[in-house]
Amino acid sequence: MPDWKGPLGEAFERATTYLAGLPERPVGPRATAAELHHALGGGLPQQPTDPQEVIAQLAQGVEDGLLPSGSGRFFGFVFGGATPAAVAADWLTTVWDQNAGLYAASPAAAVVEEVAASWLVELFGLPSSTTVGFVTGAQMANFTGLAAARHDVLRKAGWDVERDGLIGAPPIRVLAGAERHDTVDRALRFLGLGTSCIVPIEVDGQGRMRADALADALSTTAGPTIVCAQVGNVNTGAIDPIAEICELAHAAGAWVHVDAAFGLWAAVSPALRQHLTGIDQADSWATDAHKWLNVPYDSGLVLCAHPEAHHAAMAVRASYLIHDEQGERDAIEFNPEFSRRARGFAVYAAIRALGREGIAEVVERCCAMAHRFADTLAANGVAVLNDVVLNQVLVRFGDDDELTRAVVRAVQQEGTCWMSGTTWQGKAAMRISVSNWMTDEEDIDRSAAAVLRCLAGEGL
Ligand SMILES: *Cc1c(COP(=O)(O)O)cnc(C)c1O
Repeated sequence: MPDWKGPLGEAFERATTYLAGLPERPVGPRATAAELHHALGGGLPQQPTDPQEVIAQLAQGVEDGLLPSGSGRFFGFVFGGATPAAVAADWLTTVWDQNAGLYAASPAAAVVEEVAASWLVELFGLPSSTTVGFVTGAQMANFTGLAAARHDVLRKAGWDVERDGLIGAPPIRVLAGAERHDTVDRALRFLGLGTSCIVPIEVDGQGRMRADALADALSTTAGPTIVCAQVGNVNTGAIDPIAEICELAHAAGAWVHVDAAFGLWAAVSPALRQHLTGIDQADSWATDAHKWLNVPYDSGLVLCAHPEAHHAAMAVRASYLIHDEQGERDAIEFNPEFSRRARGFAVYAAIRALGREGIAEVVERCCAMAHRFADTLAANGVAVLNDVVLNQVLVRFGDDDELTRAVVRAVQQEGTCWMSGTTWQGKAAMRISVSNWMTDEEDIDRSAAAVLRCLAGEGL
């Protein structure tokens, strides 16, 4: 019998110490790359090492190189933290080590994913026939949704893309907002469509696709068409006019895919759902559980209103596999992965622990905290560049690129909070993303004060 308690006990101690330290830990890595290479490097181990010792050394070695993204004062990218139920379920996922590709390979994982899928469809208010794949992130969710779209628009043009590929196929156009996320372009590359199939649609000052520009683009071209809309711009949080987009696109026979990596969670809030009117009219959606649901990395979700297109794009048959004949869930029918981690356990636990009301509360509080941050900075003369509609705030200091970048660097050094920079419509900006389930008013007030201190330190 191997010693499980040694390494797992060590991991448990290290984990709870890390989590307990998060609220007061400086929010940023402390070590340089050279220090990390020194702490963790060395030649290939030739001899075995005791597993508990390995865990102790690993935890020690990485300590100063961790970016504490689970902190309530971490506002970088759109990361989100992790809730206790989701973390614990994720640990057990590792221990159970299920290969969740087929029902036969893990009946429990298949049923949990089926249940979680139905909860998600209800939470988001999507058509009840919607199918769900538990993927690694919105990148692969965009890939999978666009694969279903590719299948469907070519099938309508009399072409079987799964059998015949794209050589000789009717060309596909992808109408996507000029401020789409880069993962859309990357998904189109992976799908063999290339980025030159994209017809960029003009956006407004917030990054929202302009419906009139979409109407023009739809009227001047024909053939298989996919419209790729966005709910939650990664910089401004802006939401495309989904109802209008769906109406225009469907009238032209196009498929509507929505990249809603974090924004789809706003549909759970009765107060915010109005911004997503028409969301149930789209054909496929990509979102993340590792962002606003605060499930640990990695966890993305693809949803598709057309089970046959989703299935046609992903399904696989191999002679040695045991496919379930009773209608139970084989995840390989919904996923691009073959062998795969049972990601549904953590999603299930996260939803169960929070409930619909708890999820809505997290989403609404993050948005309220984003407003509080923006208002505090604005009251001190800082320019807020975006309409704060969700959890994203863009600020700029002294209308100056240099100063703005310097303040971002200074805040990262100072350690009270952590955020990153961006360029928004040609101007340097600081991005503040409030995506953590624990962020409260005290976190915001301490962080805003730190930003203003750093600004003063840069000479303004
Ligand atoms: C984060 C994000 C993505 C990419 O998601 P991953 O989970 O990192 O793959 C795509 N689109 C938008 C709008 C995002 O915010």
